[in-house]
Amino acid sequence: MSTIVSPPVPAAGNETVLSDTDVLIVGTGFSGLAIGTRLARQGRHSFALVDRASSVGGTWRDNTYPGAACDIPSHLYSFSFRPSTSWSHVYGRQPQILDYLERTAVEEGLLPHTFLDSEMLDAVWDEQAQRWDVRTSRGRHLATTLVTACGHLSDPAIPDLEGLDTFTGEIFHSARWNHDVDLVGKRIGVVGTGASAIQIVPELADLAESLTVFQRSAPYIVPRKDRAYSEAEKTMFGRLPETAQQLRAGLFWDSEARFPQRLGVPAFLAQMKKAARDHLAAQVADADLRDRLTPAYELGCKRILLSNTYYPALTQPHVRLETSGIARMTETGVVARDGSEIALDVLVVATGFEATDLPFAHRIRGRDGRLLSDHWAEGGRTVASTSVAGFPNLFVMQGPNTGLGAGSIVYIIESQAEYVSGAVDFIVDRESAIEPTVEAEDAYVADLDLRSQGTVWLSEGCRSWYRHPVSGRLSALWPDYMHRYRAENGAFDPAPYEILGSGRTVAAGQAR
Ligand code: NAP
Repeated sequence: MSTIVSPPVPAAGNETVLSDTDVLIVGTGFSGLAIGTRLARQGRHSFALVDRASSVGGTWRDNTYPGAACDIPSHLYSFSFRPSTSWSHVYGRQPQILDYLERTAVEEGLLPHTFLDSEMLDAVWDEQAQRWDVRTSRGRHLATTLVTACGHLSDPAIPDLEGLDTFTGEIFHSARWNHDVDLVGKRIGVVGTGASAIQIVPELADLAESLTVFQRSAPYIVPRKDRAYSEAEKTMFGRLPETAQQLRAGLFWDSEARFPQRLGVPAFLAQMKKAARDHLAAQVADADLRDRLTPAYELGCKRILLSNTYYPALTQPHVRLETSGIARMTETGVVARDGSEIALDVLVVATGFEATDLPFAHRIRGRDGRLLSDHWAEGGRTVASTSVAGFPNLFVMQGPNTGLGAGSIVYIIESQAEYVSGAVDFIVDRESAIEPTVEAEDAYVADLDLRSQGTVWLSEGCRSWYRHPVSGRLSALWPDYMHRYRAENGAFDPAPYEILGSGRTVAAGQAR
C-alpha cells in the first residue's frame, strides 16, 4: 500500500486552532487506530488524531530494520474486529503488519480525522474551559478528552557510550534504520541482544564482511515455530471465518497457559528452560560460545525470544560475540573492556526504548499545572492502567502496567479502547469532567504491587526496563493473565472517579 499522506492542512503557526472535538487521540499505532475506529464506528462523538510522523502505523511504521517481524502470531496480533485472512505466515512480517494498519486507517475512515506531521509539544488542562489545550508542531487542538496512544516503545534509547559522538562511521538505532547505508561488505557492530537485535543479526551476517555483536546479557531463545499459511488455509479462513476465530482463540489460550512461567511456577519454568537449553545445545557446538550465550538470570525476567537463525549466525567465522562490554568508542570503532579494538564502518544500536520515563509524560500538565512525568517520577500510577489522579479527562493507552510478558498487546489495547469509549460516553452525556480519586489510584497501585510480588520480573538478579529504576516497582507490565485485565479493566466503571467542574465535586459512582 502506498504511503498515506497528511490531509491538507493550512500552514499554521502553533496558535491556530486546527480542531475542537470531544476527543483528541495522540498517536496512530495500534492503540490510536483502535480507539479511533471505535469512535468512528460509534459515530456519536467528534474526534481527531494527531501523529508526529508523516504516515500512520506507530512502531510498525518506525521499525523497518531487516528481518523485522512480529513474534506473536498474527491471527492473535491483530484486531478482533478486523480479522485478516491473508497473513502469509504464522508470524507476520513488518511490511504486512504496517499494510494492515494503513488499511485500517483508510477503510475505517480515519484519515479525514488525522493530522500528520503534528508532534504534540504540550498538552495543558484548561481549568476554566474544562478541556485540553494541545499544542502541536502544526497548530493547536482543543478537546474535552485527551487520549494518549503514544506507546511505550516509541522513543529510541541511545546508549550513553563514552566517545559515541567521535565515531566517524555510520551509526543508527534499530528503530530508525538508515536504508541509505550500503551494508554489503562492511564491518558492522550491533549493540544489544534483545528482540530487535536477534532479528537483525542473521540478516546482517549475510551482508557484512565482519559482524560483532556486543552482548550485555544473554537472552533466553527458543525455536520459532513459523511457517507459511497455504492458499487452501487462507481460503478456508475467508470462507469459514469461524476457523480463523477458533485459531485466534487457541492462540490466546496458548499464551495464557505460558503465564505461570512468569509467576515462577517451577514445573513451567523447568519445561521452558529445557527448551531454551536444548535449542542452544542443538545450534551451538562450541562450549565456550554456549557458555557465553547462557543467560545468568531467571527465565522470563526479560522477553523470551524466538529465533532459529540467531545462534547459527553467531557460529559463522566472520561473526564475533563480544561479551566483555564496551569500554569506549573511538573515531574508528569500539574498544572493548578486555582491551581489544574492533574497527567498524557501521554501528547499529539495538538498545531498546525510553520505556520507563515515558517522554510524552513530560509534555502533559494536569490540574494545578502538574506534570505527568512528575506524578510518575517513581513509576506510572493509574487507575485501570488508563486514567490518572490530577489529570481530568485524560486516558493513557499503552502506558504503565499494560505491557505483557506473554501474550498479545492488541488484546490489552482493545480492552482499553472499550474502557475509554465508555468513559467518553460518560463525560459527554454528563457534560462534565471526571478524574479518578487519589484513594482509588493508591488502591490500584497497591494491588498491582502486591500481585507483582513473586513474579519472575521481581526475582533476584532480574534487571529490566519492566521495573522502574527509581522505585523498583514493576511499572511497565500487567502482572497477571490477559483475560483478568479485560475482566477487571475492560469496561468503564465510574466508581473510582469524581465529577469535577463548576466548583462542585461529586463521586461519579453516585451519578450513574
Ligand atoms: P530491548 O528488549 O530493550 O533490548 C535492548 C538490548 O540492548 C538488550 O540486550 C540490552 O541489554 C542492550 N543494551 C541496552 N543498553 C545498552 C548499553 N548501554 N550497552 C550495551 N547493551 C545495551 O529492546 P528491543 O530489542 O528493541 O526490544 C524492545 C521491545 O520491543 C521488546 O521487549 C518487545 O516488546 C518489542 N519487540 C517486539 C518484537 C516482536 O517480534 N513482536 C520485535 C522487536 C521488539 P540488557 O538485556 O543487558 O539490558
